[in-house]
Amino acid sequence: MEIEKERKVGISACLIGEDCRYDGKNSLIKEIIEAIPSEKLVPVCPEVLGGLPVPRDYAEIQNGSGEDVIEGRAKVITYKGADITENYLKGAYRCLEIFKKEGVKFAIFKSKSPSCGVGQIYDGTFSKRLKEGNGVTTALLIKNGIKVIREEDFLKNKK
Ligand code: SF4
Repeated sequence: MEIEKERKVGISACLIGEDCRYDGKNSLIKEIIEAIPSEKLVPVCPEVLGGLPVPRDYAEIQNGSGEDVIEGRAKVITYKGADITENYLKGAYRCLEIFKKEGVKFAIFKSKSPSCGVGQIYDGTFSKRLKEGNGVTTALLIKNGIKVIREEDFLKNKK
């Protein structure tokens, strides 16, 4: 698949086993580390890069998508009501900087996350419902010409 011709592949760090999720766990997908040599992977956790701790309060984008957050039209709010939009923006720009420095043009990101989600994210009501849209970092990467796919699509294409 197209992965072979990519020099470096950006990856949500939780997908390769880093315990950086909001709950202190990871979302390891063994097929990814089996398919792509580790020296080719550039792992990032935008929320940690944005200064948030592990574990942390979970959050969702309110009244919009990642694109809206970047344009200043929407905010990222924790389930306790704290506005952590600045952390999300800082993490997204830091991730873009890392990918540019490493020459990353393609990334595999964790679906549904308010940072890394691709195409679908939680709808902001903390009720596990989804809406169309990208996470904040995904939106910024796409805006800057980096292709981002969901881990599910990577697995589908592998078969
Ligand atoms: S921000 Fe992205 S990399 Fe970090 S835990 Fe969430 S989905 Fe994984």
